[in-house]
Formats: sequence, C-alpha cells, structure tokens
Amino acid sequence: MAEGARGAPFHLEWIARSATAIGHWKLVIPGVLSAEDWTLMAFKAGYVAIVGRPNVGKSTLLNRLLGQKLSIVSPRPQTTRNRILGIKSLPGAQIVFVDTPGIHRSEQRFNREMTRAGLRAAGDADLVLWMVDAEAPETPDDLLILESLRRVKAPCYLLINKVDRVGKPLVLPIIDRFKDRLPFREIVPLSAASGENVDRLEALLERDLPEGHPFFPEDQVTDRPERFLIAELIRERAFHLLRQELPYAVAVTVEQVREREGRDLVDVGATLYVEKASQKGIAIGAGGQMLKQIGQQSRPAIEALLGRRVNLQLVVKVREGWRRDEDALRDLGYLDHP
Ligand code: GDP
Ligand code: MG
Repeated sequence: MAEGARGAPFHLEWIARSATAIGHWKLVIPGVLSAEDWTLMAFKAGYVAIVGRPNVGKSTLLNRLLGQKLSIVSPRPQTTRNRILGIKSLPGAQIVFVDTPGIHRSEQRFNREMTRAGLRAAGDADLVLWMVDAEAPETPDDLLILESLRRVKAPCYLLINKVDRVGKPLVLPIIDRFKDRLPFREIVPLSAASGENVDRLEALLERDLPEGHPFFPEDQVTDRPERFLIAELIRERAFHLLRQELPYAVAVTVEQVREREGRDLVDVGATLYVEKASQKGIAIGAGGQMLKQIGQQSRPAIEALLGRRVNLQLVVKVREGWRRDEDALRDLGYLDHP
C-alpha cells in the first residue's frame, strides 16, 4: 500500500497523493515508533457476500478465511440456513463476510425464503463473491444466479473452488466459459479446503473494499449471539447423527446459558424441534440413546466456544410443519426480516 513512498521522509509524497481522496484514515504505527515507520493508510471496511449454489464450498471458505469454524460445513447441500457474519479484522481493513444460503430454484416456501435471503445479502454488499464448483456441471441455477448478479451494483468476483480436485489445465476452460458472462472484477481459482490461493483472495478483497471505519470491534469474529452459535453446533451434530432418518427436519434453539456461581461450569439448555410426532422417537432414540449421543458429541465444541465446562440439557419437541410455517421460521431464526 505505502510501498511507493518507502524511504521518503515522513512519506510526505505519498500522504499528499492519498490525501486528495476523500476517505477515512487510520494511523498505523507498527512496532517501535520511529519516523521511518510512520505510515498513514486509508482504512478499508466493507461487506462481502459469498453466493453460489448449495455445496460449492461457501461455508468452507468462510471458515478458512476466519481461521475458525463458524458456519456449518456439510457434505449435504443446504445446511446453511442463516446469514452468518464472519468478521475478519486486518491491520488495515475489516472484512465482514456474509455467508448465504445456497441460491436455487424451488417451489417450496422454505427454499424460496432461503434463496431470497441469499440474493438480498448480495444486494447489500460492497463486493460479491460468486462461487462455483470446478467439478460440478452447470445447471439452470447458475443462470438464475447470473441473472440476479447482473442486477447487483457491487463488483463481483468469480471464485472457482475445489481446484484441488481438477488440476490446473482443467481450470482454464472453466475461466473461458465464465469470463464474458459478467464483468468480473477478478476471477480467482482456489481451494477453500486446502487453502490454495485464499491469501491472494484476501489481498484482493482488501484492495477493492471501500474506505471506511471498522463496523465491529477488532476482536469480534461474528455478530451472532453466543446462543446462536451453540444452537448451530448442536444442530450440526444432530444433522450428522440423524441424517438417514431426518435429513432436514431438525431445528435447534438454545433457551438457557447460565454460569454456575463460583464454578467453572455453564448450564446450557437447548431444544431440538422436529416436524412430526412420529419423528420425536427417532430423535430421542431407544432409551434416549440418540439424544444422549447428540449431547455428548456437541458438548466438546460448546466447551471450546465458551472456554468452560458445560452441562448440556437437551429436550425434543414437536413443532408441526415448521418448515412451512412463517411464524415458526421466524421464531427459529430462519427469517431475518420482519
Ligand atoms: P456450501 O453449501 O456452499 O456452504 O458448501 P460447504 O462449505 O458446506 O461444502 C460442501 C462440501 O464441499 C463439503 O464436503 C466440503 O468439505 C467440500 N469442499 C469445500 N471446499 C472444497 C475444496 O476446496 N476442495 C474440496 N475437495 N472439497 C471442498
Ligand atoms: Mg454453507
């Protein structure tokens, strides 16, 4: 950023050049304070939406960029149901990532809502990342996304993910196929899973974000309340353990997170919601075995999140047809507008 000015006394030349732009400034003083080290930089801040069909690797990329697990990653499509903000604070920039539900056509109300949420996130963003899977053939959903992105004003990158699976020679034809469809600001082949080229993506984002003040405190990694993150951890485990019988029918809410006074222990109370009475028995399991397993498997991650030992109480309730019912979707946090 300030390379061109290195060596100039007080970087006056560079400061004069930059000061002609209207913007926000942050004085960055790395290490020991010396005139040589003084660099006046424009601070960058903005929202980056990650859109794309289900299963292309959006959540994996978000987790990789943030260096921690915030969003559910699953080999099955459509497990990301909420907009998740991941916040990356760098010395000169703050990038706020919005992980969106996969965009796809559907007649079902539940899927339609998720699609709408995805497109809305793209409309609000300063930059949009459209992720495609290098291995997957194109479908009508890609055209749907393309049409929507044409209406989005923010610059758009094309991310070609999973290049670890196809090898470089096969990436070129994919770039060719996509490059004229939208005026992409950048086309970045990468592997969210291995991390290949993810650093480069981050550098490009920092370059292209607008100048601005940070939106969140530097040490914050998400805007999601703790309860939401805990619910996601439980839902992920429930999803893995129950997916044969109940692929999409489980929702989780966390009603209680209470520290035991004077002890290194937190009581967490959560409810698993199923859609039908007939599913309740499956979620509980014979002699409560299934519920117990869900609890045992999610507890370590919750303890890691809270930094405390956790006493987890899980119950199962029936909320009939929650996937069709708008009020229920809102209560469970799947609709983010009033
Ligand atoms: P999303 O639905 O777009 O959020 O996709 P996920 O992040 O949940 O990933 C879907 C699946 O693709 C998971 O099994 C991931 O492990 C896998 N995946 C994601 N990125 C890569 C990648 O770069 N390479 C490979 N080989 N697999 C990936
Ligand atoms: Mg996802």
